[in-house]
Amino acid sequence: MKKHILIVPGDGIGQEVTEVGKLVLERIAEKFGHEFTYDEALIGHVAIEATGNPLPDETLEKMRASDAVLFGAVGHPKYDNDPSAKVRPEQGLLKMRKELGLYANLRPIKLFDELLAASSIKPEILRGSDILFFRELTGDIYFGEKGRKNDGDTAYDLAEYSKFEVERIARKAFEAAQTRGKKLCSVDKANVLETSRLWREVVQAVATEYPDVTVEHMFVDAAAMMLIKDPKRFDVVVTANLFGDILTDEASQIAGSMGMLASASIGDGTGVYEPIHGSAHDITGKGVANPLASVLSAALLLDISFGLKEESNAIIDAVDRLLKDGYRTRDIADATTAEEKILNTQAAGEELLKRL
Ligand code: NAD
Repeated sequence: MKKHILIVPGDGIGQEVTEVGKLVLERIAEKFGHEFTYDEALIGHVAIEATGNPLPDETLEKMRASDAVLFGAVGHPKYDNDPSAKVRPEQGLLKMRKELGLYANLRPIKLFDELLAASSIKPEILRGSDILFFRELTGDIYFGEKGRKNDGDTAYDLAEYSKFEVERIARKAFEAAQTRGKKLCSVDKANVLETSRLWREVVQAVATEYPDVTVEHMFVDAAAMMLIKDPKRFDVVVTANLFGDILTDEASQIAGSMGMLASASIGDGTGVYEPIHGSAHDITGKGVANPLASVLSAALLLDISFGLKEESNAIIDAVDRLLKDGYRTRDIADATTAEEKILNTQAAGEELLKRL
């Protein structure tokens, strides 16, 4: 298969982890006889530094022209501590999602058995957890009107959803549920928010088209509690942009670490595959970032954008074997991990390639 992949490392550890993700894609192409070509583009802080724009037109054009994008992360402490900054790295990310019509963010949360001890949740509660989140990505409070009034003393962000926006993400989630455990949990705050009442109404209507899927509706506060109390009760979860952002970070603890979680953003055109973690400036440049979320993002890319299931599974198997052989990056090591089994980013990549 011939495909063109755009690598967009972004900021901080995004650079370090996508390097490993790309090596894995190259190995897969070699092993399975595919022809993948690559290009690179700027986004986030590095793009602001180079062009003044967090998402240069050239990057957007390259994204549109590629078959899939392997993305790193955006963010820089300079902006985190300066809320008044007018141009910010995250604007690049939000604009990319809007421009590419990436309305569905898929986040599979699956625990590798070897990492049971790396989580702060009890192993007996975690074992067997396997959740697929669908977070809506182009609506809600992130994209509504925002501003200040009363001489800047009062701030507002408007949350908005249309029926169409809810319907299309709900359909994706129902379709996925049909191929898994046939259970869908829709998370909202319909007791308080009008957007959530519309959300629930639409999900209930779409549910009639999928009679084989059992649907439950849960308030977001209860869902936050239930994810930790009984993660196994969830199969597919569908929720709005803000709730999904928070719940999936919480759920990263089910997988042991943020460094293990991949995501796929899909919609009308090119799909974008990225770790759920950010640019992690506390560890940038130290070579200790866990590259497995980027590697697992590459696996999702092969599966979802190219339909290469066997190739995708080969990557997941290699990650599994790496962990079974006792290798860990610092973030997923525990008291029982031997010091010589703790790998830096590059060494983790090398060990992984040996297993591919
Ligand atoms: P973060 O995900 O960057 O880091 C949170 C913690 O997890 C840090 O202690 C970090 O060291 C650790 N961590 C994250 N990924 C890791 C990995 N692969 N290996 C080992 N440890 C890892 O979140 P944050 O600290 O809240 O934000 C840092 C910057 O990233 C901010 O500027 C924020 O805006 C940005 N951010 C970007 C995205 C994105 O690009 N999608 C997502 C979240 C945050």
